[in-house]
Amino acid sequence: MLKSDFPDLDIPKVNVLDYLFPDGQTPSDQPVWHDAVQPQKNLSPRQMLQWVKRLCLGLDRLGIAQGDVCMIYSPNHLFIPVAYLGIVGSVRSFSAANPIYTVNEVVHQLKNTEAKCILAHPTMLENALAAAQKVGMSKERIFLFNDEPCQPQNGIRDWREMIASPEDADKYQWRKLSPEESVNTVATINYSSGTTGLPKGVCISHHALIANVEQTIYMRWYPGLKPGELPQERWVGFLPLYHAYGQLYVNLMAAKVRVPIYIMKQFVYSEFLRCIQEYKITHLQVAPPILIMMNKRPETKDYDLTSLKGILCGAAPLAKELQNAVQRDFNVDIKQGWGMTEVTCGSILQIKPSDNGNVGQLIPNTECKLVDDDGKEVGFDTPGEMYIRAPNVCLRYWKNEAATRETISNDGWLKTGDVAVVNKEHILWIVDRKKELIKVNALQVAPAELEAVLLEHDDIADAAAVGVQIFGEEFPRAYVALKDESKAKGITQKQIQDWMKGKVAKHKQLVGGIAFVDEVPKLASGKIQRKLMRDWAKRDAPGV
Ligand code: AMP
Repeated sequence: MLKSDFPDLDIPKVNVLDYLFPDGQTPSDQPVWHDAVQPQKNLSPRQMLQWVKRLCLGLDRLGIAQGDVCMIYSPNHLFIPVAYLGIVGSVRSFSAANPIYTVNEVVHQLKNTEAKCILAHPTMLENALAAAQKVGMSKERIFLFNDEPCQPQNGIRDWREMIASPEDADKYQWRKLSPEESVNTVATINYSSGTTGLPKGVCISHHALIANVEQTIYMRWYPGLKPGELPQERWVGFLPLYHAYGQLYVNLMAAKVRVPIYIMKQFVYSEFLRCIQEYKITHLQVAPPILIMMNKRPETKDYDLTSLKGILCGAAPLAKELQNAVQRDFNVDIKQGWGMTEVTCGSILQIKPSDNGNVGQLIPNTECKLVDDDGKEVGFDTPGEMYIRAPNVCLRYWKNEAATRETISNDGWLKTGDVAVVNKEHILWIVDRKKELIKVNALQVAPAELEAVLLEHDDIADAAAVGVQIFGEEFPRAYVALKDESKAKGITQKQIQDWMKGKVAKHKQLVGGIAFVDEVPKLASGKIQRKLMRDWAKRDAPGV
């Protein structure tokens, strides 16, 4: 077993709001969260706190109980951090749906979380209403949620009409949590397929959120920040706020270290470059596709990016050649990190850049073991599946005991499904993925979900989905067995791909192609032979 080389940090066991806005400390009036297009639209910690309290009180008055789930269905904007901190701080659970989700996907998340209200962006309202109707949620529990006040639409009111007045909010006090409550209260429920099966709600506690902020602060400004010290950085907030990575940096880290952050509503590459140039952004938090763009897209040269000093890259495998090329061309430090929704955000980070593709070291308070197929620990320089134990590991999967038991051991070890190697200096590399997960544009795609959707097709008897590498990027590919009576119909790959369009979000589309097979290879237990499928995908990739 490997233990972090860094000293254990003393991690507060309190409500996230008590951690970010401690008693007796007046919140700053310096703007932190800015709209990237109109930066004069911004929120300081003091303003943030007032909006947060107004929302907390509004949810109380609406009759949403503590412990209930509230869903956000919106692209990024200035008020998502308000919703996040308001819902979490009032001891409810925050769960956000990807704004490109189809109605069916939202229904799945609504049903699973049993969310009691939805804050929906006006452009998502139609889908939100359709999904709410399917789960029997009253229209009274849906609110328009944007950074500007909205006129009522379809009888749905603006969220500003639900929240309390600033005067009432001033008198509001959120519930203090005991240390035990901080460790056990579910703050956020993000979705992840874990090592197998359908997407599941990952329960993250207040204490886990605080732990991951403290651990990240330590590593990011190694050995941490001195009391009262604030980093002189500027960030751009484009990571999606329904994902753990965006939530950690935009909602929590920005609040804690008060770094000005420019929130983009939508990721458009030229707009991203303009933001870096105009706001003199010093540090980025990215996933590998952004580095591919920086490396390849010709318009990159049209912008002055010399303010950039450092880039953190995580959420998907990063080729060392790409890391080194961007490092050299932009004269920036690129540090990799490894994370997973089930560890709040991250567990491994580099404290200094390197050119050999490692993902760094275990962050403080973290233990790790690498095991072989028989569950035996492997030694240095030998690949093994990575298990992690740390205060930032999730509590469980939401209402899914079987999946929890399969993924987290009684003594707290999380099975990651990633295969890693560690050297004698305790530096880690991610070398393979043992789990089913497909990562498209650093977003999760669960093969089981694609298979379930494909089986809804009238002509399909069986199907298996797998990731395929095309020019260094991963895409979903399906192997499909048609029903006997459908075989003569001449069904094409394109027909199935078109049919999928209305069923699942864009990143889950079968861009890696569809191959027709007589039979999907299965083990005697009925389990799909995924390793064989991956070999097929590798074999087939150049022809795709
Ligand atoms: P998510 O839960 O969406 O954050 O996805 C977590 C998964 O992304 C991990 O289990 C890995 O498979 C993959 N991942 C995250 N960071 C890295 C990294 N630096 N290198 C390779 N894979 C990564």
